[in-house]
Amino acid sequence: MKYKRILLKLSGEALMGEKNYGIDPTRLQQYADEIKKVKDMGVEIAIVIGGGNIFRGVQAEKSGIDRVQGDYMGMLATLINAMALQSALEQNGMYTRLMSGIKIESVCEPFIRRRAIRHLEKGRIVIFGAGIGNPYFTTDSTAALRAIEVESDVVLKGTRVDGVYTADPEKDSSATKYNTISFSEVYEKNLSVMDMTAFTLCQENNLPIIVFDMNKAGNLSKLVLGDEIGTLITA
Ligand code: UDP
Repeated sequence: MKYKRILLKLSGEALMGEKNYGIDPTRLQQYADEIKKVKDMGVEIAIVIGGGNIFRGVQAEKSGIDRVQGDYMGMLATLINAMALQSALEQNGMYTRLMSGIKIESVCEPFIRRRAIRHLEKGRIVIFGAGIGNPYFTTDSTAALRAIEVESDVVLKGTRVDGVYTADPEKDSSATKYNTISFSEVYEKNLSVMDMTAFTLCQENNLPIIVFDMNKAGNLSKLVLGDEIGTLITA
């Protein structure tokens, strides 16, 4: 096993699956299956999930909603996804804890770093909901920050693309994929991996990122075993 403790970042949009909005139950089950495989290998798992399938702060301004208010709405959206994921994981026999960046005591614990680490050590899957708890951040930044805080070995960014490309593969058919790339090369070539806040946090703290296709069965467990899947970004 290459990684003992991982932080898995899932986007909210991925949860939509084939739907146009909300949560696709098939996709949710698929993710629970993938996560179960790595759990059974003995990996300690922390998860950050986005909220883009429900609400994004930047959308708010267009609808006459104040940006900061919109960001809080986005954070609550991530919590809805986190609760769905928590439930799916538990129905599949995993132990979980949901920790929130904003206080919502009836449904989750507040984020307390030492407690999060303790949960991981005890084999519980820790889901970080509501982002960092501050507006003007993203769940990518949350993933980077929490990964550093809980001393994760790596951030695994599960997307629908299978890695980092020389150009957007959905727009440019000549684009080729990197198997590995350095942080500085990503900067120089202006490639999009995560937003800059998140990316810089990873670079400054020497936290490797792997961008991979989460929708392909078996990818997550292969990665954890050290197979070269997706794109590895390191110093
Ligand atoms: N958000 C925030 N602070 C955080 C995390 C998230 O304000 O620490 C808000 C922000 O408005 C963002 C929304 O929550 O647009 C949903 O998260 P994100 O867009 O990162 O979700 P994803 O794109 O991964 O689905």
